[in-house]
Amino acid sequence: MAIKLKLLIDKEKNRVVLAESDKYFVDILFSFLTIPIGSVLPLSSQKSNLGSMDALHESVENLDSEFLQTEAVKDMLLRPRSTWEARIKDPALNVHTDLTKCYRCVKTSCVTGSHPFISTFRNTRCPCGIAMDKEVVFKKSKRAVNEGAFLKGTMRFVISDDLWVGPISTKTCLSMLDKLGIRDRTILEEKSVDVGADEALHILRRMLVSNTPLTDKFLPKTEGLEDAFYAVKLIPGEITIDKKDTGKKMSVTLLISESKNKVLYAEATNDFVDLLFSFLTFPLGSMVKLLGPGSSIRCLDNLYKNVEDLSSHDDCIISEECRAMLLDPKLVLHSGCENQLLPIMEAGPKTIDTSETICCTFCGADGYSHNRYCSHPRSLVLHFINPKLSDAASECGGGFLKRSKTTFMITDGLDVKPLSFISAISILARFDLPISDVQERVVSVGEEEALSLLKAAVFSRTVLSDVFCQKKVNQSDIKLERE
Ligand SMILES: [Zn+2]
Repeated sequence: MAIKLKLLIDKEKNRVVLAESDKYFVDILFSFLTIPIGSVLPLSSQKSNLGSMDALHESVENLDSEFLQTEAVKDMLLRPRSTWEARIKDPALNVHTDLTKCYRCVKTSCVTGSHPFISTFRNTRCPCGIAMDKEVVFKKSKRAVNEGAFLKGTMRFVISDDLWVGPISTKTCLSMLDKLGIRDRTILEEKSVDVGADEALHILRRMLVSNTPLTDKFLPKTEGLEDAFYAVKLIPGEITIDKKDTGKKMSVTLLISESKNKVLYAEATNDFVDLLFSFLTFPLGSMVKLLGPGSSIRCLDNLYKNVEDLSSHDDCIISEECRAMLLDPKLVLHSGCENQLLPIMEAGPKTIDTSETICCTFCGADGYSHNRYCSHPRSLVLHFINPKLSDAASECGGGFLKRSKTTFMITDGLDVKPLSFISAISILARFDLPISDVQERVVSVGEEEALSLLKAAVFSRTVLSDVFCQKKVNQSDIKLERE
């Protein structure tokens, strides 16, 4: 099922003035708040151009698995999952179809009974010792498909190019025209478009790097989109820090070029690398929550604010749980890391409402409870296995990297790899610096620095310098560095 979207277009400037839709399109936009940063980034050679996130993502991709706690951690970081999965009603509109999957091992005895072993991530070690690589898909019944995900009722919405959403009214639309300085009706034109999973994913990727994702998707320019990104001026605001600092600190050694006042690279152990990698698992909405409104990406800020505003309308957001899922999105169960410096929580284990499934999730028997070949009870409490630990008995905890004495080097642009002096020398060569110019400085990283790192990772290509080499300036002065 594709969703119909009506666009009002400014023919002269070739831009989307506004869009009109029912709740289903807005549901998709809101779901973006629950999607982890890492799962938006394309794999391999493609680039999202989102700060230094591509480099971080690539570092995970290229890191030898022997440094990771388990094989499953790679999947967890490269294709992080969203808590929204539980609310996906129509797989056709899911921007990441992978997200609806879970995994089990091949042994039938591990999934019979009322507590089947299952994992959200491929290759998690089952308590029986086998890697869980058999896909489990939760097939939903038709009845469940027709409901909205977050919004209820029949309200229609108007959406601006930078994803501000509101209930439709003549006054609202007129003020949107006014804001864009449009007085002449004859330059306006109507256009209908269909939105499916591909279009949704395109809008999602564009909204992170552009303030005009609808125009970018539906009125592509001949000169290409990359330029549009560099023209966007993201406005960094102030980071507001809840002074309930956890008090946890990590120590990191910086190698700094004195003459250039710039971090060349950092030396750190597994806990700091875990912190950086954890950014990939953060749902987009949690960045707005952590960094404060107005300090994140404009479209993202707008979506977040829309949910807050619509919450004040009675009968708009389905439930308090939905509202919390959008405004305080959690990490998927087991995808948090020990020693996290930032206040972000893991969601609890998910339950599957078997009354909504059309066949047994585990043996595939149709009709489910009526089928005499299916031994699974109607009500299942899934036993999720923690993919970060090889010892399946421990339900929580664990980091992404093995706890070892390995030292990693992290470049200013967040390339992470095991320390190599030869690589260090080549960094000096790249900046044409003598060895004598390099100074060592040890810094302490707490919640405040972790927030700054998160923000810089999204906006900048010189993350460590922005955070540690600024001459005592506010975080709001983090400069956008575009190459
Ligand atoms: Zn098993």
